[in-house]
Amino acid sequence: MGNTSKGAISMANESAKSAAQNKNIGPVILLGPPGAGKGTQSRRIVEHYGVPQISTGDLLREHVARGTALGLEAKAIMARGELVPDELMYGIVACRLRELDCRNGFVLDGFPRTAAQAGWLDAFLEKAVFENSQKCPLIVIQLLVDYNQLLLRIAGRRSCPTCGRTYNIHTQPPLRDELCDVDGTKLLIREDDREEVIAGRLATYETQTRPVADYYRAQNRLMAIDADRKMEEVTAQIFGVIDGHC
Ligand code: AMP
Repeated sequence: MGNTSKGAISMANESAKSAAQNKNIGPVILLGPPGAGKGTQSRRIVEHYGVPQISTGDLLREHVARGTALGLEAKAIMARGELVPDELMYGIVACRLRELDCRNGFVLDGFPRTAAQAGWLDAFLEKAVFENSQKCPLIVIQLLVDYNQLLLRIAGRRSCPTCGRTYNIHTQPPLRDELCDVDGTKLLIREDDREEVIAGRLATYETQTRPVADYYRAQNRLMAIDADRKMEEVTAQIFGVIDGHC
């Protein structure tokens, strides 16, 4: 492809992005087991539409790192790969969704994880978040991935303890073996990505989170997407769903 056409495509992408950034997309939920690509796809939505990503796993890890009372309570539960009790989650999520940057929408990553959390979220969105702006209904996208692919993806995940950048030794390896490209720090395996914990996390997903998909499916609000494809293809389909929505 010539430089002129590449330049034209990049300008078209930029102008699509800037149009997308002024859009009210409302709340977006990505559902899927650990390793389905929720984190990556969330970051892409964030970048394209300029809305915040709200990862309950990250919010909890922040509490653990700061040593708050909630963090102390959540730490052992998270290390076992179990779910933190709903009541603890509601406080953290409500607090975050009331922040101003959520007015044009947000991406929830890792929440809701139980049918009770889904019901709570509907009630919360009904009364709290969009009081002063145009209401845009929730978009619920389910990422579907084959079980063996999941095991491979999770077992390959590494992160940099210094800058937080994430890698996958199978699909997105660092340039130098197990070292961060940005600062050369030795990459780590997240405590709950250890092989002995993964099977438990997937089992927890099956038993507890499947009812969340069922909850939305029963109300015809679930959009299932095949996530066993290239990341870019999955992203394009997700953007299509969001653009055709509000
Ligand atoms: P994640 O980074 O989303 O995989 O979350 C890491 C861990 O945080 C999970 O294994 C749970 O222990 C906890 N967690 C995150 N989100 C939730 C949630 N919505 N409900 C209960 N526990 C959660």
